[in-house]
Formats: sequence, structure tokens, C-alpha cells
Amino acid sequence: MENNIFNFREISDECIKCGKCIPECTIHRVNPDETTSPRGFLDLLAGYQNGDIELDKNAKDIFESCFLCTNCVQVCPNHLQTDFAIENVRKDIADKYGISWFKRVFFYLLRHRKVFDLVAKMGYMFQTCGFKIEEEKNAMRSKFSIPLVKKGRLLPSMKKKSFLNKYPEKIPAKNPKKRVAIFIGCLANYNFVEVGDALVKILKALDIDIFIPKKQMCCSAPAYFTGDFDTTDKLSKFNMDYFSEWIDEVDAILVPEATCSAMLKVDYEHYFKEYAPEYLEKHKKINSKIFGATEWLYKETNLNELLAKKAMQNDKITYHDPCHFRKVQGIYKEPRSLIEKNYNLIEMSDPNICCGFGGITMQTEKFDLAQKAGKIKADMIDETKADVVAAECSACRIQITEALNNNKSDVIFKHPLELIANAL
Ligand code: SF4
Ligand code: SF4
Repeated sequence: MENNIFNFREISDECIKCGKCIPECTIHRVNPDETTSPRGFLDLLAGYQNGDIELDKNAKDIFESCFLCTNCVQVCPNHLQTDFAIENVRKDIADKYGISWFKRVFFYLLRHRKVFDLVAKMGYMFQTCGFKIEEEKNAMRSKFSIPLVKKGRLLPSMKKKSFLNKYPEKIPAKNPKKRVAIFIGCLANYNFVEVGDALVKILKALDIDIFIPKKQMCCSAPAYFTGDFDTTDKLSKFNMDYFSEWIDEVDAILVPEATCSAMLKVDYEHYFKEYAPEYLEKHKKINSKIFGATEWLYKETNLNELLAKKAMQNDKITYHDPCHFRKVQGIYKEPRSLIEKNYNLIEMSDPNICCGFGGITMQTEKFDLAQKAGKIKADMIDETKADVVAAECSACRIQITEALNNNKSDVIFKHPLELIANAL
């Protein structure tokens, strides 16, 4: 891949230093220092481009501490895309320092679906045999759906069969009014297959033709947020070429994952504009048909009316807004509107505050920061006295479940589609 062509100085020059972003910034909230704030990041980035600041280990540490939550973009009067600038400097960091071996292995798996399938299957067998006792112990003390504890961390367990291997490519409806494709995302494919099960159940109830494109690849978000632009380049172009083959045959591509849908819709556009403009037109056409799952179900189907005829459930639900839905795509009313048809919905004090997942680096090398941000969210959830916290994002699911577990909370996590399918 060619050297970085991103103009850090341009975006930094547009910062008027108003500081509006600082109280909203996730990293600044848990590490209150000007260098770890949007304004500080932009200053440092200009210094880096001017040659005043070296991209040394200290700078690497600073730039890797951003959660990429996009809070700053939302509140900035100039809508400065600090997150995009950080993503770009991470490319330079990856070029200079390389990428840790375990991330390289993970990104290799993202680029090779068949190998990933095999590894997931082995992971399932290994965890079933090796961690059975721990799993049983956890199941006894916790209702969480990702109960595998290892060295104090909750790790999402692998399912026996991935979503893409579990279902046929086409699930026809009797009298279909619409036809949709499902882009499932890696976590719902391998770890939280129940999310895809719920979506299939809902679409069947609505008599909608289902197409599950089997060759779909990871959206590349984990690699992109880590600065591995080679992997991003390969996966984003592959997906766009592949989607182009069948896009005219579907009304929509439903994505039950906030991060994946934001990556496909918004980050691909940023990336193509900067690095592969020849893909912009193809992306534009596909983009008009990509939706968050609850967004499309709410806007384009009669699911609301169908749910209104179903019984109210006893569970109290609180909804967490994934950053990549509410802030990046403006999706927040739709999941709530569907959930509250059958559940008592209680708002937490700030559903829009980032849960602190932050990506693979944050979850491994900077986990103390993720835990600090997660604690704020877990306390907020516990205060509601809800039975269930929901969010349309499996990354939030991992982070929130971990934070609730650390809080010794009894609140469990469910994807909104699971709640909806349960009410049908
Ligand atoms: S993306 Fe989030 S953590 Fe990063 S600078 Fe912006 S507000 Fe702060
Ligand atoms: S809100 Fe925008 S313009 Fe104001 S300090 Fe933050 S990045 Fe700069």
C-alpha cells in the first residue's frame, strides 16, 4: 500500500480550540489530560506532519488511546473528523512499528473465511472440553450469555456452527413483499449466532425473502481501527465487488451490528475517497441499500403493528446506544420503538455515553482504560434496576457484559432482535 496521503495539518488548522469536544471525549473522561483529548490529538498530529514531533513510542501510546467513539465529531462546531485522522495516523504507526503477532493472526483469519471457520470449530471443541468446568461454574453464578471466564476476562464462546454455515443461501417466503440480504458480521457469525437466528425468525414472520450471501467477508473494522490498511483495502474492495453481483436483486442489506454497518456505510466512503476513488461510485449504489437491521424493520415493514398485537413481557429493558449507530448513523429511535411495544423500556441517565469497547488494541494492550470507561456504563445500567440491557452491537455486548460482571450485576445483555423475536 502506498504511503499515507492524509493531510493531518489541514484538519488540525480547522480546529478553533473551543474545547467543546473535551467534556464529551471518552478517553479524556478516564484519562483527563490535554494530550488525550480531541483538541490535543489534532495539535499533535499537526506537529507530526510538520516534523516537530516524532512518531515515537510515547506518541504511539497516545494515538492508540482514542476509543474512536466519534463523540468529538458530533459536538465539534466544524464537524472535524478527529476519528478519521486517528485512524490514519494508526496506519503510519503500523507501518513504522509493525502489528503485534496476535493481531496479524486475527486479521489473517478475517481475510480467510474458510480458515476462520476451521479455527472457530476447533475453538468450539477446545472450549467445550477444556473449559467445561469453568463454564458450568459461571453458568451457576451468572446468567450471562458469554460465560467463559479465563484469567478474569469474559471471552465470547464459539458456536458449534457459524451463522453462515447454519442456514441455506436462500430462505424463500410464501408471498414475499420484499427481499433482503443479511450481512451478519464476524461476532454474530461465530459467537452470537442467536442474533442471526432472531433476525431470520423476524423476517420469516414478516414473510420476507431472505438471501444470505455466503461469500461475504468481514467488513474490516478491526483491521481499519488498528491501522492495517492492507487488510482494509482487500476486504472492502472484495465486499463491494461481491455485493455488486447481486445488489439489484435485493431491496436492502440488513446489518444487525452497529460497527459493521457504520464501517460499510460511512468508513468505506471515507476510505475510498482517500485511497481508492475508483470504488466510490460502486459504493454509492450499494450504500443506498445498507441499513441497520432494526432501522429497516421499523421503517420498511409492519413489524410495529405485528408487535403491538403481541403480549407485554415482564422484563424491564434499558437500551444502550452504540456509538456507531446513534452518533455515526443517527439510529436510536427505531430499536427503542420496536422494543417498547412489548417491554417496559427504562432510559439510563446517559444511554449515548460510549461503553468503552474501543477496538482490539483497547481490549488487549489498553484494557485498563476500557475497564474504566466500562465501569461508568455499568454503574449507569445498574442504577436503572433493569433486568436486561440491550444494544444492537456485539462489540458493546462483550464490553458491557464484562463491565457488568465486574460490577457483580445481575443485569443480562440481549440484542434487540432477540427481544423482538422473543415477543413474536
Ligand atoms: S473519537 Fe472519542 S475518544 Fe477519540 S478523540 Fe474523539 S471523543 Fe475522544
Ligand atoms: S470541538 Fe472541534 S474545533 Fe472545538 S476544540 Fe474540539 S476539535 Fe477543535
